[in-house]
Amino acid sequence: MTIKTPEEYEASIKKDINLYMFGERVKEFWKHPIIKPSINTVKKIYELAQIPEYQHLMLAKSHLTGNTINRFTHIHQSVEDLIKKVQMQRLVGQKVACCFQRCVGFDAANALYSVTYEMDKEFNTNYHERFKNYWIEVQNQDLMVDGAMTDTKGDRGKRPSAQTDPDQFLHIVDESDDGIVVRGAKVHQTGWVNSHRAIIMPTLSLRPGEEEYAVSFGVDIDAKGIIMIYGRQASDTRKMEQNKFEVGNYKYGGQEIFVIFDDVFIPNEDVFMRGEVKFAGDLVNRFAGFHRQSYGGCKVGVGDVLIGATALITEYHGVNNTSHIKDKLVEMIHLNESLYCCGIACSSEGFQRDAGNYEMDMLLANVCKQNVTRFPYEIARLADDLVGGIICTLPSETDLKSEEVGPLLKKYLATCEGISIENRYKLLRFIENLSMGVAAVSYKVESMHGAGSPQAQRIMIARQANLEKKKQLIKDILDIE
Ligand code: SF4
Ligand code: FE
Repeated sequence: MTIKTPEEYEASIKKDINLYMFGERVKEFWKHPIIKPSINTVKKIYELAQIPEYQHLMLAKSHLTGNTINRFTHIHQSVEDLIKKVQMQRLVGQKVACCFQRCVGFDAANALYSVTYEMDKEFNTNYHERFKNYWIEVQNQDLMVDGAMTDTKGDRGKRPSAQTDPDQFLHIVDESDDGIVVRGAKVHQTGWVNSHRAIIMPTLSLRPGEEEYAVSFGVDIDAKGIIMIYGRQASDTRKMEQNKFEVGNYKYGGQEIFVIFDDVFIPNEDVFMRGEVKFAGDLVNRFAGFHRQSYGGCKVGVGDVLIGATALITEYHGVNNTSHIKDKLVEMIHLNESLYCCGIACSSEGFQRDAGNYEMDMLLANVCKQNVTRFPYEIARLADDLVGGIICTLPSETDLKSEEVGPLLKKYLATCEGISIENRYKLLRFIENLSMGVAAVSYKVESMHGAGSPQAQRIMIARQANLEKKKQLIKDILDIE
């Protein structure tokens, strides 16, 4: 079956995996209240792919097999594909209002596709063929693939080989004719537990002498030797409470995992880089570029929902016709659409690599992500402004339902005629959680650090900007030799 249904997807991830949370091994993780919303989110991607109205975005035709596949497994074949990727991400963000986790492996695959091709050309290796075979399986089985880049890094001032503990950067610790053994940890792993497989990449550009760190491979998320520890998020235990509205977005959520590779064997056929330090930087930058493009879609979709929630609450409060409220909503829209402009622009200026696949414009993708490190914070600040102080003083749902104080709370929480107190409560909790609770991880912190922290984009912007050309422009105009 090329396109999985949401139910087939969920059934396919139900396995006993080596996952820990709050110091205990998690059994049947798909039933855990903290994890379940993140599974619902990925299921939504599979669901949208079944709906004819969305299939022009959610599906694509594989250039490898000719089969119809989920776009999250597609290797971009045109500028139109790059644009549709961002449009799809905005759509999914609008449906779930959180990180939907499936873009990391998607972006890793598109980066590896061209990098393996170029490595083969230079070193006469056969990584590209291997990778294509690996990826055909992913496409044909509609697998959810994570991507892993960030190492724990130890002393940030030292190179990988200068660390007291060499495992602070994932590296090859043993080699045989059949494959390699790797050790280290990859952190902030979005959606790892909900995935079938993961693509592992180096975390930085590497130099001669650092060959053991120049490693990329595909791995099952529960391969022998992998230990997963569930990352905490602000107010996450609200998901374990009886009253679901306290969570805000009670259906959907993200997921971040601390993944430890305790001597994991990787067979040769799944290894896509093994010591080619020269190409580590290309892989890192292309992956980061693709993921920085992604943020011009996904965070815009989440922003759409937050703007909608804010506009609705101002209606509930009877202030929607006040001029400064209308103007602040315009500002939120302006900021959100500016991000989308960046996502579309870096896609529209995409180009074809020698391998045949298409890549976004690197400078514009970095400008896109740099704006994403700022605008969602401002959009959330404006939402906090328009909602009012109740965003952080609202009593619990249990109090709302209590026989003693519930009726009094309802009396004083009433706003305009005809507005349901329960709906107001749900909206206030949704905005609270997106702005400062569990959902802020997806909307703010990920916007800041996902696909690289702000300084990483500034370095790329400086490298790509071609200041010499700009200086020549003014020299030409003013006849300066
Ligand atoms: Fe996709 Fe955005 Fe989540 Fe990255 S942060 S995985 S681009 S939804
Ligand atoms: Fe992310």
